[in-house]
Amino acid sequence: MADLWPGLDGPNISYISPPPSEAWRRAWPRSIAILGSTGSIGRNALAVIAEHADRFEVRGLSCAVNVERLAEQAARFRPPLLAVLNGESARKLKSLLPPGYTPRVLEGPTGYAELAFEPSASTVLSAQVGGAGLAGTVAAALAGKVICLANKESLVLAGDLVRGICRRTGAAILPVDSEHNAIFQCLAGRGQEAAQLLLTASGGPFFGKSEGELTRVTAEQAVRHPVWPMGKKISIDSATMMNKGLEIAEAFHLFGVPPSRIRVLIHPQSVVHSLVEFGDGSQLAQLGTADMRMPLAACMLWPLSLPSGVPGLDLARTGHLAFFEAEAFPALDLARQALSMRGGLLVVMNAANEAAVELFLKGHIAFPDIPRLIGAAMRAHAAAHPDDMGKPFCPPLTGACLPDIQKEAQALEKRIERLDRQSRAMVFKLAKKDSTA
Ligand code: MG
Repeated sequence: MADLWPGLDGPNISYISPPPSEAWRRAWPRSIAILGSTGSIGRNALAVIAEHADRFEVRGLSCAVNVERLAEQAARFRPPLLAVLNGESARKLKSLLPPGYTPRVLEGPTGYAELAFEPSASTVLSAQVGGAGLAGTVAAALAGKVICLANKESLVLAGDLVRGICRRTGAAILPVDSEHNAIFQCLAGRGQEAAQLLLTASGGPFFGKSEGELTRVTAEQAVRHPVWPMGKKISIDSATMMNKGLEIAEAFHLFGVPPSRIRVLIHPQSVVHSLVEFGDGSQLAQLGTADMRMPLAACMLWPLSLPSGVPGLDLARTGHLAFFEAEAFPALDLARQALSMRGGLLVVMNAANEAAVELFLKGHIAFPDIPRLIGAAMRAHAAAHPDDMGKPFCPPLTGACLPDIQKEAQALEKRIERLDRQSRAMVFKLAKKDSTA
């Protein structure tokens, strides 16, 4: 099994976690809890589970907003645990469930972490949107689970912490993000030799547009991704290329590769999901239809390769594949800056981006304002906290036992929350100042 896992502590790759235990690999049906089951990733995951009903036992489902859809999913998969954002959602959810089915319903932000930590599921799919997904990922890692990780922000914000916990508890990370899943598959058995990771990016709906054209694009145009059907937030991130910026940070933490050995290639067809270059100059790529059921099946059924419901690719019909250098994307520069200056800059960047995307979706700011406001928030933070620069935001874990590590994790989560709140407030203030100027 170790052959299928990227190098744990090789000279070129230092993968974030050890492989899952032999016992986990052999235990079928696999018990799974899904954080964020009503979103695009969660629904695709349930489609894979429905395709392999005998291989999974759904132990928990959760949502932030769409209680009606959660009720439908729960009625079909009958998990004993559900989690929602607050008491009002919990009451509504209970009223929508079929008679005779009475799952335990957890409420409030801590409910998701409780669902992730709860021992009856061996596997957790972490698929909440944005920084809100961190607590669930950390809880699953503390519980030593196998984590199918779709929430990239967990690594962007606290990659060092997640790495530290996985090494202590034996939790394993399987990357769902399509690019990282592609790299993970290319590294199987060859991880320690990788010389360069090549992340592909579709370029989003506005690739090739001039600056003048970009100031006039609308939120509706931005959420219409040309290849991948996805949620709103990630579609905007894909249009600004901030999604790729976050993915550079995600790859850095996941594979332990310096940013200088992570290159971004624009590939509008999104057929090649990413590549790895090895020491001898050869490159391996993973190809497929742009459909998240494929990386989800690769993670949830790992190490088996079973039907995902996605038809195989017919390259003769695909025809031409194009690749371009990723130049002049401010969001990529911001991510590389945040990675090199360290401190809390990745936290600032992520929070400022979430706030700016919110303002853009409401029509309050123009598209090019998104990276501009993020850059301004990052500069303000670096100027106000010069001592913080150049240091890792997360100190190495020192606790000897689980409760101590848990306390360290909670302290870091609080610091992240505080900085997140301040950075959002900063973006709202800057945007307001612009609009009244
Ligand atoms: Mg991706």
